Amino acid sequence: MHRPDTARRLVLDRFVAADDDAKQRIARVIRHLEALDRTKAWALEGRSSLYDFCTEDRQWSLGQTAIRVQVALAGRRVPRVFDMLDTGELSVSSAAALAPMLGELDAGEAAALLDAARGLSKRAIGELLAERYPKPDVPDRVRKVPQPRPMGPTTGALALVPPGEAAPSPVAVRPACAVERSSTSTGRGRDAAPAPRERVQPLAADRFEVRVTVSRATRETLRAVQALMSHRKAAGLEAVLDEALGLLHDKLVKEKFGVGRARSGTRRPGLRPAASAELPDRASVPAAVRAEVYERDGGACTYVDPVSGRRCGERRWLQIDHIVPRCRGGKPTAGGLRLLCGPHNRLIARQILGDAFMDSKLGTR
Ligand SMILES: [Zn+2]
Repeated sequence: MHRPDTARRLVLDRFVAADDDAKQRIARVIRHLEALDRTKAWALEGRSSLYDFCTEDRQWSLGQTAIRVQVALAGRRVPRVFDMLDTGELSVSSAAALAPMLGELDAGEAAALLDAARGLSKRAIGELLAERYPKPDVPDRVRKVPQPRPMGPTTGALALVPPGEAAPSPVAVRPACAVERSSTSTGRGRDAAPAPRERVQPLAADRFEVRVTVSRATRETLRAVQALMSHRKAAGLEAVLDEALGLLHDKLVKEKFGVGRARSGTRRPGLRPAASAELPDRASVPAAVRAEVYERDGGACTYVDPVSGRRCGERRWLQIDHIVPRCRGGKPTAGGLRLLCGPHNRLIARQILGDAFMDSKLGTR
């Protein structure tokens, strides 16, 4: 449909090649780091710990140091980790995500886990671990968090999880700053795991822990909503969140794409709230057509990489795109429209109309 985008493809390929090089170099660094820790050779430099040496002499960040040390120690226990880093089958962050579990497994189990983790991102590994080694639900928890040092709003941290009888997950209560200098240089048992930065953590195949800090006003609204739902069987945070998000989702989809309300509770699987994005051609595309396009395209970007065949599938920043641009006679019929995310909408505009035209257009903003 379009000319192959060779110039942009070349930029992409060069980046990937440089990144692959960098990953191999880091893999080498991590093997050396393991030896550095094992031999305590860093002490020659007049430093009192591996961490001091890495952060002061080598100017690594604390987080970077923690992750690399964690991976080096995982490689010491399970040498195949090093091999997978070398071949690019595992990234450093993916290896770090696996490291705590690798420490608890026997050789056979560790090998099986590494097989399953091959090529996965850190996030996908989180889900793999949750599936294979499920943790119990954490109980609902609303607690006041300490005031930020300067001056900030009074906040409460909400652990939004279903009411359950299970004991709290250790992940839920891990302090925000878990990088311990002392525990890593000794080299076994519990490595200093960097604090999880994700606020949504998989617990089991279909269960997630969500953590959020909210204002006092939101806390009051939550209380009020739970009071109003108190006669129901399920009025825990999960029930509140599920119903509230269902309502918000349907409202946003209706506003943006004119899609009629669907009953919450039987929502389309996998649909999540589409974040708001202005739809420049909303006025020119009839609501019924917008709705048809949205439903047909599954509420997700339809861009497909012509080389890998991978579909984007993004649900944020969605726009309705004219397959043939309006300025070239494209008609606002369902067959002439598709859903694209903002970045792919702009990419295709550049491919059709040219960078020079788009730059001149955007340059006058
Ligand atoms: Zn896209």
